[in-house]
Amino acid sequence: MLTGGTRPASTEHVRVVPVFRRVQDLPAWWPATAITRAARSGLLSPVLLLAVTLDDAWLMPRAPSYAVLGLFDEPAHLATSVILLLAVAALLDRARSGRGVRSVRPMFGVGLLLAGNLIDVDHVPQVLGSQVLTAGTPRPYSHSLALLVPLLVGVLAGRGRGRLLAAGVALGVAGHLLRDLGTAPVALFWPVSSAGVTIPHTAYLVLLGAAAVLPGVLRVLNPRSAGADTPAETAPAHGQLPEGGNDGQVGRNPLPD
Ligand SMILES: [Zn+2]
Repeated sequence: MLTGGTRPASTEHVRVVPVFRRVQDLPAWWPATAITRAARSGLLSPVLLLAVTLDDAWLMPRAPSYAVLGLFDEPAHLATSVILLLAVAALLDRARSGRGVRSVRPMFGVGLLLAGNLIDVDHVPQVLGSQVLTAGTPRPYSHSLALLVPLLVGVLAGRGRGRLLAAGVALGVAGHLLRDLGTAPVALFWPVSSAGVTIPHTAYLVLLGAAAVLPGVLRVLNPRSAGADTPAETAPAHGQLPEGGNDGQVGRNPLPD
């Protein structure tokens, strides 16, 4: 029996409030929407490449204070990491039948993005006046193959999430060293040699440019993957990368990250 004031269940209007909204439900001006659409279209990487080029055009002729240098250099390192991440995502997308940036696993993406900037923590002792990591070298010892080679060994020998993390960190460090080589000397072969090694800044931009155009080129070659991604999936924390030497397998289930 119905009590007074209680409406029959059949006439009750149930309103479902979504907790998360899909990218297509968000307005075009919403930052996540704009970034996602730029990534889908292959435009995000070229835009980031242009930003790095303009950043360096201002930075390279100058010798600013350490603080100002960091303000311009660290965003460029982050942009370098994002360009590499999107290039890897595009390659995996091509291999895995249109999974978009979901092809990149969280551990890999997070490792890449964090390592691409956090490696510069090794500058802290020098900033504080200690040469414990820089005695006789133009940059800290960990800005060298002495850090990158063990990471690559970890990629080859590791398993599961540890391997994914090592792969992401290795690519983040490699991208960081590539930029550093193009901006100032790096003791790349320490401890074998403390000599500073550089490459032309143009070489860095050309290599970065190749990675930046890759998503767009692959999209043109493989238009069926268009629109495969959602905003959450543009973030590496929601993506997947093939694991355990099975890169390229189609239809593999993601790890429960
Ligand atoms: Zn550095």
